[in-house]
Amino acid sequence: MKNVEIGPIRPPSESNSLLVRVTRGCHWNKCYFCGLYKSIQFSMRPIEETIEDIAKQAQLYKGRTFTSCFLQDGDALVLKTDYLLRILDALNRYFPSLQYITTYARADSITRKTLPELQALRQAGLNHLYCGMETGSDQILKLINKGFQADTVVQSGCMAKEAGMILSEFILLGIGGRELSEENAAVTAEALNIIRPDYIRVHATGIKPESKLGEFVRNGSFTLQSEEEIVEEQRLFLQRLQPMDSFYVNEHIINLLLEVRGNLQTDKAQMLSVIERFLQLPPDEKLLFAVGRRLNIFLLLDDLKKPALRQQVADNMQRILKQNPNTDFTVLCNYIRQSQI
Ligand code: SF4
Repeated sequence: MKNVEIGPIRPPSESNSLLVRVTRGCHWNKCYFCGLYKSIQFSMRPIEETIEDIAKQAQLYKGRTFTSCFLQDGDALVLKTDYLLRILDALNRYFPSLQYITTYARADSITRKTLPELQALRQAGLNHLYCGMETGSDQILKLINKGFQADTVVQSGCMAKEAGMILSEFILLGIGGRELSEENAAVTAEALNIIRPDYIRVHATGIKPESKLGEFVRNGSFTLQSEEEIVEEQRLFLQRLQPMDSFYVNEHIINLLLEVRGNLQTDKAQMLSVIERFLQLPPDEKLLFAVGRRLNIFLLLDDLKKPALRQQVADNMQRILKQNPNTDFTVLCNYIRQSQI
C-alpha cells in the first residue's frame, strides 16, 4: 500500500484484519527453528510515524469497515505500555468499528508487564494475544533457544487470561524430534491444562536445513520424525489435554490431518477417532496418504477413497523412486513442510 509500512507476517486467522506495523522484526530473533524475521534488523517504529500510518489507512480504506486489527511484527508487547496505549487510542479514534485488536506476544514480554498494565491494555482494546509457547518442556525450550522457560509460559498465559484477554497458544508438534517426542506431548499438555487458553493452535514442525536445528539433524543429535510419528505425538498430546472450553485449531496446510479440530470440551473423542483412523491404516496406505498430502493431491483422509487421486499419488511416488531409489520419505516430507512456513 502506497506510503504505508506493512510488515511481512500475520497469523492465518488475521487475513481480513487491518495491519498496523508497530515494530520491525523480532527483538529476540534467536529461536533455532525460526527464520521468519532473520533478514530484518529489529527496530521500534517512532510513535508519530505509526499514528500517521493509521490515519493514512483510515483515508485509504474510507467506506470499508474493519472489525479487527493486527499489530505487527513479532512481539508488540515488548513496547512500553504508554506507547501501546497511544497506538490503541489512535486506532479506536480512526477505526471506531474495531472489535478485536490483536498481536503476537512473547511470554517474557507479557510477564514483564504488571497485571494492571495488561488490564489497561485490554480496556483500551487490545483483547487477543497470539503466543508462540511452542512447547511446555524446559528441555525443549532450551534446545530450541526460545529464551524463556516453561514457568514463564504458564505465568504469562494465566496473566493474559486474568486480564480478560483472548489467548491463543501456538504449539509445535515434532519440535523435540524423536528423542523428546513423548516429553513434548505430555509436558505441553500439562502446561496447557493449567493455562486453559481459548485457542490451541497446532503446527507440525518443518526443520529448515539452514537453521540451527537443521545442523542438529545433520550432526545426529536431533532425529526427524516420520509423519506417522508426529501423528502419534499428536495423539498423546490430545489424550493428555483435559476437556476444557478451548478450541483446538488446525488451520495450517503444514498439518497432516486437517480434520482434527474442534472444541476440547465436546469434540475430543471425535478428534482422537480421526487420528486413530489414520494410525490404523496399513503402512503403505499411511505413506500414500502422507506423500499425497505433501504433494498437495490429497486434502482429507477421505481422499484416499478417490481412485483418480490415488493413482496420481502412486505415479508421483514411482517417479520419485525412479529418480532416487533410496528416497527417504521422512526427509522428503520434512523438506516440503519446512517450505510451507
Ligand atoms: S519464533 Fe517468535 S520469538 Fe522466536 S525468533 Fe521467531 S518471531 Fe522471534
